[in-house]
Amino acid sequence: MNKEIIVIGGGASGLAAAIAAKEEGRDILLIEKESKLGGILNQCIHNGFGLEVFKEEYTGPEYANKYVQKFHESKIDFLLDTTVLHIDKIENGFEIILSSKVTGMKKVTCQSIIMSTGCYERTRGSISIPGDRPYGVITAGSAQRYLNIDGYMIGKKVFILGSGDIGLIMARRMYLEGAEVLGVAELMPYSNGLTRNIVQCLNDYNIPLYLSHTVTEIHGNDDNRLESIVIQEVNQSYQPIPGTEREFSVDTLLLSIGLVPDITLMDNLDVEHDLKTKSVKVNQAYETSVPGLFICGNSLQVHDLVDNVSMESERAGKCASEFVLAKKIESNESIKIKAGNNLLFVTPHYVDFAWASRETVIQFRSTSKIEKALLTVSQGDKELLSKRKSFIVPAEMETFTLDMNQIEKGSDILVNLEVL
Ligand SMILES: Cc1cc2nc3c(=O)[nH]c(=O)nc-3n(C[C@H](O)[C@H](O)[C@H](O)COP(=O)(O)OP(=O)(O)OC[C@H]3O[C@@H](n4cnc5c(N)ncnc54)[C@H](O)[C@@H]3O)c2cc1C
Repeated sequence: MNKEIIVIGGGASGLAAAIAAKEEGRDILLIEKESKLGGILNQCIHNGFGLEVFKEEYTGPEYANKYVQKFHESKIDFLLDTTVLHIDKIENGFEIILSSKVTGMKKVTCQSIIMSTGCYERTRGSISIPGDRPYGVITAGSAQRYLNIDGYMIGKKVFILGSGDIGLIMARRMYLEGAEVLGVAELMPYSNGLTRNIVQCLNDYNIPLYLSHTVTEIHGNDDNRLESIVIQEVNQSYQPIPGTEREFSVDTLLLSIGLVPDITLMDNLDVEHDLKTKSVKVNQAYETSVPGLFICGNSLQVHDLVDNVSMESERAGKCASEFVLAKKIESNESIKIKAGNNLLFVTPHYVDFAWASRETVIQFRSTSKIEKALLTVSQGDKELLSKRKSFIVPAEMETFTLDMNQIEKGSDILVNLEVL
């Protein structure tokens, strides 16, 4: 089978990218490893999705269904229960090896790929909590899936480590299902979740949030079930402070300690990586350093709002279509977009003048909470943008668009955030 574009992943990102490329007339195949389209949205049965794109508040499955419906109306070819195992760069495109129960292993080729493989959760191993290894310690996203999709109540006395959005949402979800939620511990002096989730998921249910705290001990019983945990306050170097130990009797510890873009399929491709986003570098067309290989959604950068995923992926879908139509878009000259003071990262990483007709939508996260800031964008001595911002937090990704007419070849672009 040969296709113009293959989209890997059928979550919010893959759906939006595929629909956008199809609108441009492309021949597309979308491949999804699960038995249903929609991705992570299918397990997010809370509301809070779609305010930007639809100006209405939907649950995750409702938001997904809007796109799934449009996807089917667009008559895009797709495969479910099919996993992409391997990608090779070949002349004029890519060769993909996929596997499914029905077809077995199969090779397909295409001119362009859109990677929309989402992200995965960090586990206990990535933060090395000492103590026993009992049952009852699981990631918050897995717990969400067991509860909301498979219908299993995973525990009755729960503590949560990490105040990312999934942890906050699971705190409320477990409370509403009748569990006792004893608290949420967060290593940082601020929460890593959206402000609205702190209010609606913790404050409204009197669930305590222990900032600058971490779990330092895990105890299992004779049946190897979780029995208790110990949390401790940490100092400015994130080291536990002796004497601040506090023990909680729990049967479940949920870990909400970070998400990592899933780019494992790119392992054997010559892509340029970004250590900050833990993904790859792209230009303003969401094209990686491998021509024709595009990436968007949570596999490019972990998003907090699905609306941003959909809008970003639409842009990526249109660019992949342009790539196929042009047969090849040779990078002509590119300049870097650099993250300056107080910025954790900036995407895209390059403005490529081969894609000069495309708008450059910049997204960034700050390194810490800033009440009042001045956002500036400059190229050499020339100021491209200057804007006052209030209440910037690492948990909320910021977005703005650069006017391409102002950008010249030559020096790099610097995005800066000054504390006022
Ligand atoms: C718990 C939680 C709560 C959230 N709450 C909100 C909220 O209240 N409001 C809001 O706006 N946003 C929220 N978000 C954010 C938003 O929902 C996500 O950022 C968005 O849905 C991610 O879409 P995606 O397509 O990039 O990734 P995913 O939805 O993860 O989709 C990736 C897809 O790729 C497939 N895939 C991966 N590898 C392969 C492979 N090798 N072969 C084939 N298929 C593959 C996966 O099966 C999956 O279906 C939340 C996210 C989470 C996790």
